[in-house]
Amino acid sequence: MARYNGPKCRLCRREGEKLFLKGDRCYTDKCAYERRPYAPGMHGRARKKMSDYALQLREKQKVRRMYGVLEHQFLLYFKEADRRKGVTGTNLLAQLECRLDNVIYRMGFANSRDQARQLVRHGVFMRNGRRVSIPSMQIRPGDVIEVREENRKIPVVQEAQNVIARRGVPSWMEVDGAAFKGTVKAVPVREDIQHPINEQLIVELYSK
Ligand code: SF4
Repeated sequence: MARYNGPKCRLCRREGEKLFLKGDRCYTDKCAYERRPYAPGMHGRARKKMSDYALQLREKQKVRRMYGVLEHQFLLYFKEADRRKGVTGTNLLAQLECRLDNVIYRMGFANSRDQARQLVRHGVFMRNGRRVSIPSMQIRPGDVIEVREENRKIPVVQEAQNVIARRGVPSWMEVDGAAFKGTVKAVPVREDIQHPINEQLIVELYSK
């Protein structure tokens, strides 16, 4: 599966906010956005008035980049969110949150979604006792995610307990760092997603 391999900090600067794409570095003063909080490029500092369309597009790009999802796949998530019962924007965010790579990141077994994706690809995790290697896999309530015994010595996985203590675990999951295991208790509701996202703008963009 293709993915974006360019400079990550550039994406935060482009979107005008921290997207936390680089794990611990994002919380230090090395963060590029803290140092240069304006868009990259020659005209990055120029003040521009954004049209409604530009606002909608930027919001979609921001969310897509946060979760590391490519354009086509994002559109498929939207179509599915629209098809399901309930609020489309919330359905969209719930699907993104339930991706395996995001769940692992939220559980603290990886420092970023990118790192989680790489670990999943290397077959480090099991879901309900079976090895998994597809980062976009949708996780359901009741699913148990576990680090395989032979992979528990990986430094980032070993660090999980510290990460959990530092970052906390969302209320829709339960993690036992010592047992290298976590359980998804429910599909996240809107209040569980703390990052400032205006999903309504994305709905408007795709509804044109
Ligand atoms: Fe974004 Fe800062 Fe993290 Fe770079 S270090 S990815 S700019 S939050």
